Amino acid sequence: MAKQDADRARAMVRDRIKVVHTALAGCDVLVERELEVLASRGEVATCSKGCAHCCRQEIYVTRAEGEAVVEWITKQWQPAQIEALEERLRSWLAWYRTEHKQLTDGGIDRQVAFYEHGPHCPALEGDACSIYPVRPMTCRTHFVSSPPDACRQDSDPKFVRDPIATPLISIPRVTQPESLRIRSLIEQQGADFLATVHLLPEWLAHLLRVEQQPWLTAEPLFRRT
Ligand code: SF4
Ligand code: SF4
Repeated sequence: MAKQDADRARAMVRDRIKVVHTALAGCDVLVERELEVLASRGEVATCSKGCAHCCRQEIYVTRAEGEAVVEWITKQWQPAQIEALEERLRSWLAWYRTEHKQLTDGGIDRQVAFYEHGPHCPALEGDACSIYPVRPMTCRTHFVSSPPDACRQDSDPKFVRDPIATPLISIPRVTQPESLRIRSLIEQQGADFLATVHLLPEWLAHLLRVEQQPWLTAEPLFRRT
């Protein structure tokens, strides 16, 4: 019976990873299409490879997206690269539990605490996303039409205050069917969707076995009623 349960659990993980890859590919098609529509109206995305000021936001992902990332990493990366990521995850978690907590206890908004005071996403290597082919939906759909320097931290000498960062908000909207594709499978498998959502570093830490339950000491975003 235990073997059957384990086989069933593995099959469910495989199904989730498969649906995530389908959703990510579908998302990219929808993003390209929407970028063209926006450009035809004069709203041109200013994002480019190597621009990573935005990679310090709260990135929430489903377990399924985290599983797709970890499967990809374990197939593509050498052990030393994985160990370096694990070390960045440990530092990130330490910051989240200490400085981030102090900042939010002191009245600073969660998102501001991340963006203005936090470390970069542990998946960032240099100025590049190390998991780019499998980066989460949230990252794939974040674009702005403002100068990249407007995305810098306020304390950065190169920060540009005017014009302010202007997200292209229609992109997350048009790609919603692909996010729903992931949600739908999770719910078909019998899980509480919101309970499968955590910060990307938390899921990576859990799935890479850096920590069993990294979210236990963190403030949950979603509370079940
Ligand atoms: S959102 Fe801003 S920081 Fe991020 S890639 Fe686009 S221009 Fe660069
Ligand atoms: S996953 Fe990649 S794109 Fe997303 S925040 Fe992290 S480094 Fe940036």
